[in-house]
Amino acid sequence: MGRTLKHAVVIGASLGGLCAARVLSDAADAVTLYERDELPAGPAQRAAVPQGRHVHLLMARGAQEFESLFPGLLDDMVAAGVPILENRPDCIHFGAAGHVLGTQHRLQDEFTAYVPSRPHLEWQIRRRVLALPNVTVLRASVDEPVFDGQRVTGVRVDGATVDADLVVDATGRGTRLPVWLEQWGFQRPREDTVDVGIGYASHRLRLPEGLVAEKVVVAGASREQPLGLGMLYYEDDTWTMTTFGTGKIAPPQDFDGMVKLAAEILPAHIGDALEHAEPLGEVALHKYPTSRWRRYDKLDRFPDGIVPFGDAVASFNPTFGQGMTMTSIQAAHLRRALQEPGESLAKTFAEATAKSTYPVWTMNAIGDLTMHRAQGAMPWWYRPVGNLFDQFLGAAESDPVLAEWFLRRFSLLDSLYMVPSAKLVGRTIRHNMRAWTAERREKVRSRRSRETAASVPARSA
Ligand SMILES: Cc1cc2nc3c(=O)[nH]c(=O)nc-3n(C[C@H](O)[C@H](O)[C@H](O)COP(=O)(O)OP(=O)(O)OC[C@H]3O[C@@H](n4cnc5c(N)ncnc54)[C@H](O)[C@@H]3O)c2cc1C
Repeated sequence: MGRTLKHAVVIGASLGGLCAARVLSDAADAVTLYERDELPAGPAQRAAVPQGRHVHLLMARGAQEFESLFPGLLDDMVAAGVPILENRPDCIHFGAAGHVLGTQHRLQDEFTAYVPSRPHLEWQIRRRVLALPNVTVLRASVDEPVFDGQRVTGVRVDGATVDADLVVDATGRGTRLPVWLEQWGFQRPREDTVDVGIGYASHRLRLPEGLVAEKVVVAGASREQPLGLGMLYYEDDTWTMTTFGTGKIAPPQDFDGMVKLAAEILPAHIGDALEHAEPLGEVALHKYPTSRWRRYDKLDRFPDGIVPFGDAVASFNPTFGQGMTMTSIQAAHLRRALQEPGESLAKTFAEATAKSTYPVWTMNAIGDLTMHRAQGAMPWWYRPVGNLFDQFLGAAESDPVLAEWFLRRFSLLDSLYMVPSAKLVGRTIRHNMRAWTAERREKVRSRRSRETAASVPARSA
C-alpha cells in the first residue's frame, strides 16, 4: 500500500486501536497512537479493559486475521505456552442454547484455534505495534478531535493541537463521537440496540493436572436456563471460569456459587474436577446491559478526516465471543478503504463494516431476543428462524456434519452468515424426523410391554 497520508492519529490502544495503527503504518508516514491508560510492559490486566478479567475466546477467524496483520503472532503465542486446540471432541465441551455439540463425534474438517488470555493477546499485539518504526505510542487522554468547519484536522491533547490527515476513533463502546458529530452540526448515527442484560462473574483457578482434558468449555444460556458458563485454559496453566446471567438474571457472585452452577450445567467430570480447584485472586464482576451498533453507514453526511473503529461502531453480546474477531475483520476493511477510498474513506469503510456486521448482529439478536430474554425491536421472522435454529442445534447434537457446520460458522470461518443450505436444512428435518419416529416407536413399545406385564397376573388369576 502506498503512503498517501502524512500523519494519522489513533485514539485508544486496545485491540481496536492497535489493529488500526498496524494498518495505518502502511498508509501514513507517521502514526501516533494515544492511550489514556497505563500500558504494562508485559501481559497484564489493564484498568481500562476490565473485560480482560473475564473469559475471552479468540475465534479461529480472528486468529487468522490477526496473523495476517502480524505474521508470526500465532507461532510466538504457542511458543509462549498459549494452548492450541484442534477442534476435536476431547479439546472442547461446547453447549449452545441447551444443546451439546461436537463432543460425541470427531469432526471431519478440523480447524485450529488458539486460547490466549486477553492480556497475553493484547501484549503480543502491542509489542509488535510498538516495534513498528513509524508508529509512536503515547500515554495521553485525547480531549476531542479538531473540526475546522469542513473536516477533522487533528486532535486536541492536554490543551495542545496535533494535526493529522486522519483520526481513527478506537475508544470503545463509550465513544463520544456521536456527541461530537452533533456539536459539529451533523446528525448522530442511529443506534440499533438489544438489551441483553448480561452480568458476568469470573474467577481464576488452578486444577490438578489430568482431571480435565478440555481446554475450552462453553455452556451457553438457553430458554430454560438463563445462566451460562465459560471456562478457558490459558498459557499460564490457570483457568478462568466466567459465569454469566442473561436477561438481567445475576450469575452466582462467589466462587462456591460458581462451582455449584458448573456442577449443574457441565459434564460430571468437569464438575467433579472443580471440587479440587484452587481459587486464585478475587472474583471479578462486570455488567453488559446492551449490545449496540452505531449505524454510521446510514448517515447522509459525515465529516472527512475521521473514522470510528472497533467497538466504537459495534459492540456485540460478549457471551458469543466475537468482538475481537469482528474488530480484526474491520482492520481488513480499513486497509481496503485506504487503498480504494471511493468518494469518501469513512463511507467506504462504514459500508464494508456494516456488510460484515449485519449477519453476525442479526443472528445474535435472533438468539438473544428469542432465547435469552433480551429486550429490543424484533421483526416477525426472528421467532420462526430462532425455532428453526433450535431444531438445527438439536439435530447437531448427534449429527457431526451439522455440528461441524455450526462450529465453523460460530467461529466466523467460511462465511459470516449463519444460514444453512437447503441440503443442510433437509438433513436437519430428516434427522429430527428419524429421531421423532424412533422416540414414538420406543414409547409405543414400552407402553405395550407395560400393558402386557399388567395383563399377565390377571390371566393367571
Ligand atoms: C465482558 C466482556 C467480555 C468479552 N469477551 C470477548 C470474547 O470472549 N471474545 C472476543 O472476541 N471479544 C470479547 N469482548 C469484546 C472485546 O473485548 C472488544 O471487542 C475488543 O476489546 C475491541 O475493543 P476496542 O479496542 O474497540 O475497545 P476497548 O477494548 O474498549 O478499548 C478502548 C481503549 O480506548 C482507550 N480510550 C478511551 N478514550 C480515550 C481517550 N479519550 N484518549 C485515549 N485513550 C482512550 C481506553 O483506555 C481503551 O484502552 C468482550 C467484551 C466484554 C465487555
